[in-house]
Amino acid sequence: MAARVVGITSTSTVDAGKPPQHILNRAYVTAVDRAGGLPLVLPSSEVEGAAERCLGIIDGLLLSGGADVNPALYGEPAHKELGRVDELRDGFEMPLIRAAVSQGLPIFAICRGIQALNVALGGALFQDLPAQRPSKIAHSQDLPRCQFSHTVQPVRGTRLASIAGGPEMQVNSFHHQALRDVADGLQPTAYAPDGVIEAVEGTGSSYLVAVQFHPEETAPHDEASRRLFEVFVRAL
Ligand code: MN
Repeated sequence: MAARVVGITSTSTVDAGKPPQHILNRAYVTAVDRAGGLPLVLPSSEVEGAAERCLGIIDGLLLSGGADVNPALYGEPAHKELGRVDELRDGFEMPLIRAAVSQGLPIFAICRGIQALNVALGGALFQDLPAQRPSKIAHSQDLPRCQFSHTVQPVRGTRLASIAGGPEMQVNSFHHQALRDVADGLQPTAYAPDGVIEAVEGTGSSYLVAVQFHPEETAPHDEASRRLFEVFVRAL
């Protein structure tokens, strides 16, 4: 069978002194390649009906990491520690996520992806963990991206628990935000030792797995990270 198409969302940049870009870390593409999917990077298009048209092309949706989601989308003013927001991307991703969920398209969401998914479905975020939910765990690790910095405990009986293959997973951590109010249709499936939500999945029958960590960076040397991509691609 020909490789199934995995649409991967991307970041829009507006860095001073550089032309605006649509960018994606290669680790996402490599992880999808190695799992046997065909990666198709999706820039944040402003064309009318972009979300619906993209869904007609792809077999699954990978929501990648990136900037903070605009808190106005969950009805809150910006906290002073809010990071850069990506309104172009928010404008493309919110309808894309809602349409993908309503069509039952398989979804795998990473970092900003779990946050965008939660907001698109009506949930809310901590805008800054150190300010709003301090703990001893460094969720913005200084270690390289391929190294683990904390553990998470998957909830028994969930898809994530079966992918993890044990009561604990080692993860990396590059987020200053996290899920606060979990949207209807999602359930938490893993927590960090400080109680921060590190994964959710859909309550329905469609494949919908979302993680706060970055398994694309650890997949080359970690079996559970690799399985997250393999199980997703098999679901397409
Ligand atoms: Mn973390």
